Amino acid sequence: MTHNAAKVRGRFAPSPTGRMHFGNIATAVATWLSVKSRGGEWILRIEDLDPQRSKRRWMEQIEDDLVWLGLRWDAGGLAAPAYSQSNRGGHYEEALARLKATGMTYACTCTRADIMATQAPHQSDGRVIYGGRCRPASMPCFGEEPPTPHATRLYVSDGEIVVVDGVFGRTVTNLARECGDFILRRADGAWAYQLAVVVDDALMGVTEVMRGSDLLLSAAQQTYLYRLLGYDVPEFVHLPLMCNPEGRRLSKRDSAMSMEAMRSALTPEELLGRVGAALGLTATDEPVTLERLLELYERGNIKKQQTVNIDEELRVINA
Ligand code: GLU
Repeated sequence: MTHNAAKVRGRFAPSPTGRMHFGNIATAVATWLSVKSRGGEWILRIEDLDPQRSKRRWMEQIEDDLVWLGLRWDAGGLAAPAYSQSNRGGHYEEALARLKATGMTYACTCTRADIMATQAPHQSDGRVIYGGRCRPASMPCFGEEPPTPHATRLYVSDGEIVVVDGVFGRTVTNLARECGDFILRRADGAWAYQLAVVVDDALMGVTEVMRGSDLLLSAAQQTYLYRLLGYDVPEFVHLPLMCNPEGRRLSKRDSAMSMEAMRSALTPEELLGRVGAALGLTATDEPVTLERLLELYERGNIKKQQTVNIDEELRVINA
């Protein structure tokens, strides 16, 4: 694949593990507006790395919901199998081989219990920091891999990774402290999100990675991988997490905010009005068209934190 370097290319990369909710919709709309406001291309990539949880019917539903909102992708989706991660193992193999050749990877046979046992202190947000039980005494290391099933981990250096984010600004991360050596491929052969996403964004010519701010730490891990693989680092833009009025992150449990509930109660313009307000593009959540949001789009208006009022009207209609 060759790409015109000047072309703006963004992507929406859903995992087809369920129906979208308000946060996913806001991300889809924001990524579309961001590239379309600069005449760019919008890619729909299917992140179906997890074979147990990913279902084709969810992806069909996601496509149907995007079309209902008026969002059309320029590349990707189910009609283009090369944009589904489950079909891209060959690209991940090639990248992993290049990383192994640097001597910065090693085989890890730790079970989850081993990792939890060496975990100190416990991260309050549930993040697990790998303590380095399987890490060779010195790196780089070109040792033989054990014949038993093992994961492949990437050594992270004890240095600072700077990410300049389009909404959150400059962040400085020490990966050794924040996550430790991370997995590239699991013992069961499944590819890790971090490797797949970097390889895909690089090979698909993505210039802007826009997504929810729950992935802010991942931007540092991915920057580290971009550098090791010799790829250009894209621009990162993390969107505010959508919280309910109690300050809790919106999740599938907020059923009034699922696409199923919203689509049965609202027109596309009514839902876009709520998305526009949540992104800080409109002052009120009055109905608005996608074309109007495109005129109003300003990245500078996106806030770092956003509360979404769960609509009483929606709750009643869908009760
Ligand atoms: N597949 C991820 C999700 O649905 C998004 C990953 C990304 O945008 O980098 O949350």
